[in-house]
Amino acid sequence: MFRVFLVEDEVNLSNILVSYLEKEGWEVRSFNDGQSALRAIHEHPHLWILDIMLPDIDGYQLLRSIKEASPDVPVIFISARDADLDRIIGLEMGSDDYLAKPFLPRELVIRAHRLLERVYRPKSGSSLISLHPYVLDEDRRMVLKGRDEIELTSKEFDLLLYFARNRGQALSREQIINHVWGGDYVGSDRSVDDLVRRLRKKMPDLRIETIYGFGYRMTVK
Ligand code: CA
Repeated sequence: MFRVFLVEDEVNLSNILVSYLEKEGWEVRSFNDGQSALRAIHEHPHLWILDIMLPDIDGYQLLRSIKEASPDVPVIFISARDADLDRIIGLEMGSDDYLAKPFLPRELVIRAHRLLERVYRPKSGSSLISLHPYVLDEDRRMVLKGRDEIELTSKEFDLLLYFARNRGQALSREQIINHVWGGDYVGSDRSVDDLVRRLRKKMPDLRIETIYGFGYRMTVK
């Protein structure tokens, strides 16, 4: 579960960006001025997104403080000012990426993904799926909550992975059977319900909705 801190004093823009970033399953906190962001530096998020023009202190100063406290944390700078100059200074000061306003929120999401991947992707090349508060490691077939591993059976893991890859979609019991057990399986809907029940019990913070008479849907925060 990645935590992203966004510093942007334009409240409307900030709200839009937060909703885009949250759709990625990230935990996002927004700050509308530099001082409140400064106070949160010690919380060490995985990524900072900084507007340069802030009402109280400037983004450069904030960037300097962030890099002093956590030199390795990636930072994306956003600016509406003299774009080239900000880009050069920002990069020299250790920002990892730069976006000039106006930009599409989607562009920011792509940049953020790229940075998080680059900085935090395990060396093994595992692919991680964030299901707040869990992290699913697809290649290693592991599920973590914080530092604790959650023990799942092979079927439970397959079901979880199927849900995770189809977040927000309604999945029928039949689809789930085909996917988790394979098409030849002559099973009952009960098996699906039992498996979902076990998964919910082991991972109570998952958001799996029951769709009566149909199946299930996993939603994201
Ligand atoms: Ca601003």
